[in-house]
Amino acid sequence: MHSTLLIFLDGVGIGQPDPSSNPFFKYHFKFLNDIFGKPPSLKNQYLSANGNYLFPTDPLLGVEGLPQSGTGQTSIFCGVNAPQIAGRHFGPFPHSTTIQTLKEKNIFHEFRKRKLKSTFVNAYPKVFFDYIKSGKTRLSTTTLSCNLSNIPLHKTEDVRKGKALTAEITAERWVKKLNYKLPIIKPETAARRLLRIASQNHFTAYEYFLTDHLGHWRHKEEMEHILDVLDRFLFSLMTNIDRKKTTLVICSDHGNLEDLSVKIHTMNPALTITAGKYAKELSESIKDLTQIKPAIMKLY
Ligand SMILES: [Zn+2]
Repeated sequence: MHSTLLIFLDGVGIGQPDPSSNPFFKYHFKFLNDIFGKPPSLKNQYLSANGNYLFPTDPLLGVEGLPQSGTGQTSIFCGVNAPQIAGRHFGPFPHSTTIQTLKEKNIFHEFRKRKLKSTFVNAYPKVFFDYIKSGKTRLSTTTLSCNLSNIPLHKTEDVRKGKALTAEITAERWVKKLNYKLPIIKPETAARRLLRIASQNHFTAYEYFLTDHLGHWRHKEEMEHILDVLDRFLFSLMTNIDRKKTTLVICSDHGNLEDLSVKIHTMNPALTITAGKYAKELSESIKDLTQIKPAIMKLY
């Protein structure tokens, strides 16, 4: 069975090689420096080494304005030009004009229609399910997609059983901020867990959003720790992936983190990395956000 593992990173673009504003040039990232020899910059947007590919992906999609998460993520997970449908870049939640698209075209639903196994690995805490039960509907693109297509979301017990991951990789924030009694795991352990889950499914997705939060200048005091966890997680995924059976796609919806001189999103190209079995094919067919889903579906 061929497996695709998609890691969605919110708000990571390719920016200027300036250590004062771009954390990828300020800190040493193993998943960039050790794998590709250097981090990407606007002058070096295409990097490849040992079957790993890093390349820019257009988040603007011919629509004016700063790209946003609602339309960007809908474009990724549904393979449509969501800002064009909505008439503008919109976020952080999906735009009302794209709800039907989310229901019918989201990638989890697409795999299920083809009788293939897919899973959305993120778990959500009880407060999130209480929020939905209270009738509130402002959900992210992924959670709304799953809800609309009756795909159950993972809960705390799934994290305990090793079937899911918290959105911040290690469960540290769940333990410290939400008072859950969960083991805090190493990023490398989380990566191994994710690779095991991916090997049991045709398609597995994991969503990580702290990158966008850092870009909006939130959690600044925890910046180095958060980035270290993410780096170890991604490096571990890229170095332990079964290259004969699995394809890894790391992608983002718009720039933000790569330019900390501003608190808002950027016009920079979004970062995409592919590794594993069909890494080269994907690197050749993905030019903008709308092409990620079709490029993955073509592998099945
Ligand atoms: Zn944002």
